[in-house]
Amino acid sequence: MTERIVIVGGGLAGVRSGERLREMGFDGEIVIVSAERHLPYHRPALSKEVITGELHWSDLGLATAPELDAQWRTGVMASGLDTSTRTVSLPGGEELRYDGLVIATGVDSRHLDGVPRHDPRVHQLRTLDDAVGIRRAMSSSQGQVVVIGGGFIGAEIAASIRHVGREVAVVIRGKALLGGAIGEEFGNLVTQMHREHGVRLASGVKILHWVRQANGIAIHLSDGQVLFAAAVVLAVGATPSVAWLRGSGLELSDGVLCEQSCHVVGADDVVAAGDVARWPNHRFGGVVRRVEHYIHAVEMARAAAENLLVGRAHARPFTPVPRFWTEQYGMRVQGSGIPKLGTDTTPLGRGVTGFVADGRLVGMVGLDAPNAMIRHGHELRRQTALDRERVDVLSVRPTRAPGPQPVPPPPQTPRDPAPFTEQLPPVREPVPAGAPPREPQRRPDLVWALPTPRR
Ligand SMILES: Cc1cc2nc3c(=O)[nH]c(=O)nc-3n(C[C@H](O)[C@H](O)[C@H](O)COP(=O)(O)OP(=O)(O)OC[C@H]3O[C@@H](n4cnc5c(N)ncnc54)[C@H](O)[C@@H]3O)c2cc1C
Repeated sequence: MTERIVIVGGGLAGVRSGERLREMGFDGEIVIVSAERHLPYHRPALSKEVITGELHWSDLGLATAPELDAQWRTGVMASGLDTSTRTVSLPGGEELRYDGLVIATGVDSRHLDGVPRHDPRVHQLRTLDDAVGIRRAMSSSQGQVVVIGGGFIGAEIAASIRHVGREVAVVIRGKALLGGAIGEEFGNLVTQMHREHGVRLASGVKILHWVRQANGIAIHLSDGQVLFAAAVVLAVGATPSVAWLRGSGLELSDGVLCEQSCHVVGADDVVAAGDVARWPNHRFGGVVRRVEHYIHAVEMARAAAENLLVGRAHARPFTPVPRFWTEQYGMRVQGSGIPKLGTDTTPLGRGVTGFVADGRLVGMVGLDAPNAMIRHGHELRRQTALDRERVDVLSVRPTRAPGPQPVPPPPQTPRDPAPFTEQLPPVREPVPAGAPPREPQRRPDLVWALPTPRR
């Protein structure tokens, strides 16, 4: 019987894990079950170029390797997993058998109590359909847009909405945007930049009531302010998409719990990757965490695919230096490592700050400094490196039946994760205040390359 690897989640991690399986020589069936009706697309553009109108949604398709040759089950939501019979439940009672499984279901937008969620003027942003909805709301309404939440996605949405000339207010519980993810200094800088671009910031407040009115929604804040919104975008974080795994026996609190190799704890021949996976990165002390960043999803997907094929006994620990970027008003902030772990900062050169804990670099943040980020990235990697002895100890795993196709990991191939900048989309030039919105452009690096979905 042909071996079959099922990938649940047809986003970035799902598709990149499938490609890696093929690169590793897996020649069985790959079935990708994807809740969305779209083939995989470039999610980061949703809060940026899609809202500004610089990219049309049809320009966002991810370039994928033709060798992937997967059977796509788009618009299909997996509803259950039985690891004893190795089956994934699909709608209509269908049971999809697997020899190996990749869990790559990402995250869902978090809800906030009391929000009139079903009011058509209230939006969230996770999917292409959400982004198209926000874009439509921008053209069909007038007046202030209120963004709730000032993390990466909230701040980007606010910048993009300002870019199209709409009034924007952002409501945050803390003092500064980006909530400490990039340190206080950069957080303040980004906050200042938003103010300079005319964003009204309601900081250090809670929302007390929502009052729906015919011509908008009144949002009553704990400091007595009332913000009137023609449209609202909720950007208050995300929760792992694990509802379909309830009852499977897997440990699901804040994501699917994995071992250091990306193998799911308590299940044979199952790995997880991307935003949904929580695993101990021994480079940063072995605390189990999730990482919700693009480059990370690619790297974890590839590591998970490799380790699925070689099996637990031969798996290598996944110990990346996480990297991320955000773009606002044409400025690119890049991060590397886990800046939040730093107890101190140190300047590393123009535009780059290092975050230090126990005398060692644990993260860095750079402002429009991609080359310096690469240069200092080597040092960050060196200072967070595990010594050989420790890696060997951590690598020891109980032996068990090998995975679907035990082959040793090949040497690095040209498709291995590219250097920092190559993974990133081009930076936009800053747009002068009052300039007309730019015409949509096609992105040459993004094409709809997947075959027609097979059923
Ligand atoms: C608006 C936005 C902007 C972003 N910008 C940046 C950025 O600038 N820089 C950065 O580093 N990162 C950014 N990110 C984060 C980055 O896009 C994610 O880290 C990355 O997409 C994670 O990939 P993933 O495959 O784990 O999850 P996803 O890409 O979310 O894919 C998961 C897929 O699984 C599907 N799914 C869920 N449940 C099921 C089920 N039961 N059955 C079948 N399918 C299911 C989902 O519908 C989804 O299609 C951004 C994210 C968003 C939403």
